Parts: sequence; structure tokens; C-alpha cells
Amino acid sequence: MKDISMLSPFVNPKSIEIPDEFHSFETKKPFTNCVVCEKNLIEIGIHYFVEKSVKKYPNSSAFDIIFEYAICLECALEMRETLSKDSMEKIDSFFDEKVNLLSRWKSLTRDGKYDINDWVSNCLITNKPVKDLNEYQIYAHCESDRMLFSLMPYVVSGEVIDHVSGLLSQKTKDELDGFMGKYLGPPPSIREILKDKTPVFIF
Ligand SMILES: [Zn+2]
Repeated sequence: MKDISMLSPFVNPKSIEIPDEFHSFETKKPFTNCVVCEKNLIEIGIHYFVEKSVKKYPNSSAFDIIFEYAICLECALEMRETLSKDSMEKIDSFFDEKVNLLSRWKSLTRDGKYDINDWVSNCLITNKPVKDLNEYQIYAHCESDRMLFSLMPYVVSGEVIDHVSGLLSQKTKDELDGFMGKYLGPPPSIREILKDKTPVFIF
């Protein structure tokens, strides 16, 4: 039997087949390429993140995916490097203050069930149920065709994303807008609801 104390979110965490909610909404299949370098993600050993921004409509099951992408670990780290140090420190210290991801991991894995619903049913920061949120972003850490139970997956509510965006310098916001325009190219029909909605790199 595996000694549970040996498990960690960083070394060979448990993995499952990538759940549907982290598939591309557009293709209904797992993402296949990094949005930045276009590297094939399904090759063995490639680590990457999936981020999706979801908008729901009151009293209806309708929802829109505002944006979605997969980014390889290398490009994600490079992206972080290009953002201002000051802004990244602010994001990091906000999350460090509000949530201990390692304790969360320990408590979610304690019973050994790894039920995805336990990980993505509430906002990571406010703990509000996702079913009550109008806007949120979901994040997953994947390796090839598997989703890892590392410090992700998690959900961050729109209100937290707005708060975090407010901590960023104008320069960083412009850089994130640039990323959005260049790689995500949202159709004009949803540009209006996007306004301040930019990806926030919190990995
Ligand atoms: Zn890449």
C-alpha cells in the first residue's frame, strides 16, 4: 500500500482523464496545442494549464465561455516574467494571504477520493458555491492527456478576479489585454462584456 504521507501536489500527484469541463468548449475535446507557442500538448511529459472564463445567465442554464485556452508551463512562466514584478507580487501576496493551497490540497486528498466536485464547486477565495456565481474562471493543471490533482483544479469567482485586476498596474493590464487580443481574439459580439475581463495569471 502506498504511504499516503509520501503523496504531494508536486511529485507525481494523482491524475485522472481530463474531465469534460476542462475540454475545449469549441471542439468538445481536450486542448491539443499551447495558445502561445502552439506546441502539441498531448506529447508525453508536457505540463500545461487550462483556463476558462465562464459567464452564466440568471435563472437559466445558459452560459458563455468568454475565453478559454491552454498554455504550456514554459510559456506560462515566460508570460509571468514579462509582467511587472510589482503586479505579480501583489497577485501572489493576495492569494498567499487568502488561501493556503497546500493545506487545501491536504484536506481535499485526505480521504483519498479525489472527487473533482470537491475541488471545483466553490470559489477558492470566497468559498461561494459556483452554482450561485454569475462569472468565474476555472483552472486546471494537465500533463499530456491527464489532469493532475496538484494545487489545481480550482475556481475563482468573478468578484475576486475583478479585485485582483484592480491590484494590477496599468502597464500589466495593457500587457494582459495584449495577450488577450493576440492569442484569444474574442469575437466583437462579446468584446463589450469582456471590458475588464482579462486572464489573471495566478499559477
Ligand atoms: Zn507554449
